[in-house]
Order: sequence, then C-alpha cells, then structure tokens
Amino acid sequence: MSKITPKDSEEDNDDEWHNFSNAGYSSANVDDEDNGNNSKDNENEEWFDGDDFEFEGKTLDWNSPPCPTPLGIAHIIKIGVCNHCIERVGGKKNLSGEEIRLEAYVRDDTLENSFDNDLCPLCENLFDDVNNIVNRIIEKISDLEYSAMQIGIHLPKDLINDEDQIRTRHGATGSRPLKSAMVDAIQNEITQKVDSEVNFVKEKPDLMVLIDGLTLRVDVDVRPIYFYGRYRKLTREIPQTRWPCRACKGRAKGCESCNESGLQYLESVQDLVGEPIRIALNAVDTSFHGMGREDIDVRMLGKGRPFIIEIKKPMSRIPDLEELVKTINENALGKVEVDSLQRTERSLIAKIKASRSEKSYTIRFKVSGEINEEEVTKHISDLSGVVLNQETPQRVSHRRAAKIRKRKITNLENIVIEEDEIQFEVRCEAGTYVKELVHSDEGRTIPSVSGKLEMDCEILWLDVNEIHDDEENQEK
Ligand SMILES: [Zn+2]
Ligand SMILES: [Zn+2]
Repeated sequence: MSKITPKDSEEDNDDEWHNFSNAGYSSANVDDEDNGNNSKDNENEEWFDGDDFEFEGKTLDWNSPPCPTPLGIAHIIKIGVCNHCIERVGGKKNLSGEEIRLEAYVRDDTLENSFDNDLCPLCENLFDDVNNIVNRIIEKISDLEYSAMQIGIHLPKDLINDEDQIRTRHGATGSRPLKSAMVDAIQNEITQKVDSEVNFVKEKPDLMVLIDGLTLRVDVDVRPIYFYGRYRKLTREIPQTRWPCRACKGRAKGCESCNESGLQYLESVQDLVGEPIRIALNAVDTSFHGMGREDIDVRMLGKGRPFIIEIKKPMSRIPDLEELVKTINENALGKVEVDSLQRTERSLIAKIKASRSEKSYTIRFKVSGEINEEEVTKHISDLSGVVLNQETPQRVSHRRAAKIRKRKITNLENIVIEEDEIQFEVRCEAGTYVKELVHSDEGRTIPSVSGKLEMDCEILWLDVNEIHDDEENQEK
C-alpha cells in the first residue's frame, strides 16, 4: 500500500493539493523555528499601518484578550461592533447580541458611551440589510416553483480580510465568518417569510440566488431541468434538432424564404417533443441532446433513440409526466412518438453522448444494370463481418475533419431483390455511414455494395431499426 489513500488518488485535485501543501509544510517547518516571531511582528506592523482600524480615534487594542472574556467583549463594544456581530463573535451561546451588550454595560457603565462610530468594523452594518435583501429575493421568486435554493453572496475582499483578522484575534474561537453568517441570516429570514418549504443546498439547486453585498443587487438564476426518454421518428421529413433557415441564418424575425419563421424546417423532433413541455412548465427555451442523430430522411424505429431534453428557465418544475407524454404523442401523431419521460440530471448528457452502441438498419436502393440474383446475394452477404475503411463522406465533410475510420459490419441479412431494387438489414458499429456502405461515396468507402456489384447504387430510403444501447449496458 502506498501512502496515498484511495480517496486521495481518486481525485486529481486532492492529489495536487496534497503535494503542494506537503512541499509548503516542510519548508515552513524550518522557517517557524527562526522567524516565527518575526512574521507575527510584520503582521502587526501592517495592521497599524492603515487608518482602517482607527475608529473615531480609538485604535484597536491588540493586547486585549479574545471573547468571551469580559475584557474581550468590552473591547469589541468599544470598537463599535454591532449587536449582530457581538452575537456572532461574542462566544456566548443562547444570548442575543443585545443581551451580551447589556451584560457588559452592567459590568462597566463607562462602556455605553465609549464608542461613537456608527459603522460596525466587522460587517459595515451589512446585517441591517438582511431584511431588504430578502424582500428583493422574494419579489424575484414569488412566481417560481422551487424546493432547493442556493444562496451566494459577494462581499468586497478587503471587508472579508479585515473582518477575518479582527474576528480571529478578538472573536471567540469557532465564531462564524462574515460570509457564512450573512448567508445563514438571509436563509433564516427567507424561511420565515415564504409559505413553501425551502431546502438550502450547496449543489444542484432549483434556484441560484446571487447577492452583491456592495450594491445589494439580487440575481436569481432559474436552473434548467432535464428529462430522459426515447423517441421514434416516423417520417422522412423532419430533422432531430431545430435547423436555422439557411438564407437568414435564423435571425430573430426570419426572412421571406422561411416565411418569417427563421427555420429551415418548421418541425423538428426537438420542438415536437420540447414545445409541449416548455409550454407546460412556462419555460424560455429547450435544448435537445440525442444519443447520436439520424438524417432528416431517415426514420428512427424500434425502441427509439435515447435523448435528454433540457428545459431552460422553467417557472414550474413538477409536471404530470404521463399527461405530457400523451400530449406530445397526440400533437405529433404520425411524426414522432415518445415512450416515456423521466426526470434526470445534467451529467447523463455526457453519458448518452459518449455511447458507442451498435445500430441496426434497413436500407433500400436501386441499381443500374442487369441483376443476377444469386451473384448479387453472394456479393452482398460477403460484406457481413468485414471492417470498412470509411473516408469522411463528402456530404458531411464541411462540418467534420477528414479522416479514415474503420467500422465493423457485425451482421448483414434478409437480402430482398425486387426487379432493380435491393433491400437488406445490417447491424454495425457506432459511427458507420450506412448510405456510404451502399453507394461507396465515389470510392471513399471500401469495401462497398456498389464496389462489389460494380454498379451504381441509388439510395431509396434508410431506417434505423434499433439502437442496441441496452445490450451495451448489460455487457458492463
Ligand atoms: Zn456587524
Ligand atoms: Zn430565413
């Protein structure tokens, strides 16, 4: 066993941090012996340098003991710390800031008039704004459906640094830092003011609330939601995703050639599936992520193609999924069918994109020239089990880098010959260009049906019969 625990080796970042901190630690060891006091002195010098810590003529007394000692509490009162911060750094459990202050006044009646600054050196009176901030948040989220919320607050760096120095020196051990204390205060206030139950989370929120502590500006980011399903495409006329109009590139108002739609094809699987969901959830837009895609003129049959639809900025988040599937299938009757929808996570997109599942197709094409059925059948059957060399097809070379791919034909069967038309079923590796397997793309795919038969082949149609992703999962 090495010194690195399994957890360390799992995460690269941890490893790097580990090495880095080790390196720093060993050299610091030596320095500590010689220069420990020195470095503290430097710190002090820096502290007294600026006038940041002079509050109306009362300089911080660095020799004062920390809270919760009476002297420590008297000291933070003297420098004008507010009640919120006295409670936060005073180290007196179960006492409010005001109670801690009054206790101190009883011990020392000169304290009450000992400060005249009205800006708390720890928070610059930020806690007075909690109510205001929360009202702004509530105004922004009142029409939204949510259960998990994440709060982020941005504070000026110098405020955080100054606060940290004073708190570590004079606050009680374990006092909550300014930023997290602010977030706590905001969350408590929200919980009291909204009717619904809110879970405050550190990841995967429904709403991300960002607060600027300087301007008190509040931004609410409504996080997208994702649904997984499989679609069947029953026509040869619609693309998988929205295609912007070629003439106007899909600009906002479209053009004459696209009838002001901005779209090359009015319908797409994306919109036939996504629009009913977008409307039901009162969302802004959708994004469609398929496990690969088929050409516009190719049908997608069998169990259908896995996809994830991303719903952007939804005001509602809890749809009746069965009802939605019904609506989608009714609206898209004869064009697209969805088997079911289930809520999923963003991380699944990368997984389905990376899938290398085999696929089965039926392809039909027309040949020029005399057909000897026996010979044709033999030549085509010979392609079962071969590995193709496929150069990037000319039809896609404008969007893909030119290279030669090796793709295996797992199986080829059910050859049907009817006059000058031939049809067969083929199962092959992910990424095989099946139309090119037949017509050869002017010799860019080797071997090919066209090459074997020494005839031109004109594709009539192609169907995807199945995407074998379940089998892939079973193998793992
Ligand atoms: Zn304060
Ligand atoms: Zn247009």
